[in-house]
Amino acid sequence: MRKFFLFALAQGFVIFLFAQTSYDASVINKIKAEEQKNSQVMDIAFQLTDVNGPRLTASPGFLKAAEWAKNTLASWGLTNARLEPWGDFGKGWEQEKCYVAMTKPYYAPLIAYARAWTQGTGKKMLTGDIVLINANDSATLVQQYTGKLKGKIVMLMMSDTLRPSFTADAERYADTSLYKMAKAEPPNRQAANQPSRSNNNFAARQAFQRTLTNLYNTEKPALILTMSARGTDGTVFVQSGGSYMKDQPEAPASVGLSSDDYLRLQRLVKAGVPVNLEADVKTKFFTNDTKGYNVIAEIPGTDPQLKDQIVMLGGHLDSWHAGTGATDNAAGCSVMMETVRLIKTLGLQPKRTIRIVLWSGEEQGLFGSRNYVKTHFGDPQTMRLTPDQAKVSAYYNLDNGTGKIRGVYLQGNDKVRDLFQEWLTPFNDMGASTTTINNTGGTDHLSFDAVGIPGFQFIQDAIEYDTRTHHSNMDTYDHLVPEDLKQASTIVTAFVFNTAQRNEMIPRKPLPAPASQRGF
Ligand SMILES: [Zn+2]
Repeated sequence: MRKFFLFALAQGFVIFLFAQTSYDASVINKIKAEEQKNSQVMDIAFQLTDVNGPRLTASPGFLKAAEWAKNTLASWGLTNARLEPWGDFGKGWEQEKCYVAMTKPYYAPLIAYARAWTQGTGKKMLTGDIVLINANDSATLVQQYTGKLKGKIVMLMMSDTLRPSFTADAERYADTSLYKMAKAEPPNRQAANQPSRSNNNFAARQAFQRTLTNLYNTEKPALILTMSARGTDGTVFVQSGGSYMKDQPEAPASVGLSSDDYLRLQRLVKAGVPVNLEADVKTKFFTNDTKGYNVIAEIPGTDPQLKDQIVMLGGHLDSWHAGTGATDNAAGCSVMMETVRLIKTLGLQPKRTIRIVLWSGEEQGLFGSRNYVKTHFGDPQTMRLTPDQAKVSAYYNLDNGTGKIRGVYLQGNDKVRDLFQEWLTPFNDMGASTTTINNTGGTDHLSFDAVGIPGFQFIQDAIEYDTRTHHSNMDTYDHLVPEDLKQASTIVTAFVFNTAQRNEMIPRKPLPAPASQRGF
């Protein structure tokens, strides 16, 4: 929009100065008002989490949520709403029942979740004592435990390090932290690539873990108990315990226990107190359709010159299975769906086409977005690009939990700093004012960045993401913060719409060299 500044000069001349801003303030005000009054972001989140349940890639829960999202996007008037296969994923898997209890020296139900892609404990109730594996290195493990685990309930000795927590689970960025991010220099690659001692420790731990997995796969214990070191207060961080690959055998039954339960069992067994457990774990593998799917829909552009160009937005729909993937990442999907709903509801007419994609296979390696980008835009290995690569102005992603937006990671692209800073202006009073040259990793915008398409993640307050919800049984609806998700919906809508309306596309970084030449 153009702002008019009227200057009456002494001589009687009247001069109009046109100061051009890069967004239409009246549209931004409409977006803010609509989201404040009629937000549906929590209704969308309710459907994706409480109603649907967990959304592990290729599971019935994922496909149900994907169908719901597709139908809902179509009902709002988006076009081409569909599930698009991105390639072969592997087996689907679902937890059907998970009961584990201690029956001796006294009865105690235990907090337990089956680990993804592991088998159940069989038809009958499993009962037995526990083999406590006390080994820190692969050689001891193989020497002392080969031939001793078949049909047993087993657990690995963990260090007993639970302590009361004196720090809050939830936090927001302090102004000082945001200031540091804003002043950050581009990251130094060489420093990041230096091998370190902790890398060596990590490699040793990885090797031990591989030996343990091999031992379990050959010995086939009846049930493997595991504990995640960072779970406290009944929170269990549970991911996979086996392979989803079609040609890999199914892994033996394995559950994640709460650390308090696990360490109690461990202390009792170590002290020689007889301990008995009973367990009934039922899981199901699905092999009918091994393809992975993304959910896609569009708002067609209206400008004859620009409608072939595309603004993309998305988040990953797949989740882990102990909770309902509320903060990871129903939050991001709900905000992205709310964004396109707002644009349709307000009757905004984007010049460029807006395309939303809800990914799958993110948790296993950004599979949905990587394969989508490879099919439609180019292969980062060879940097051979399709003509459509040149038509995507930008991709916006949200995948850091429920926290409100505090700014944008520029992903090393300083050419967008002034523009994004200006686009944040109407949201400064809502806490969003920071742009940082920093990269942020770990999620689907990287797939776009890898082939030279500007891909961005927003800076979000962490709230309880790393401490409590991310990949845990506590990743549920009640850990979502409605006001934060409304704020995020407002800002993402503004960014997406501004990108659709601007005369030029978003400026790009130089195209990266083919990954094959960079030694990846
Ligand atoms: Zn995520």
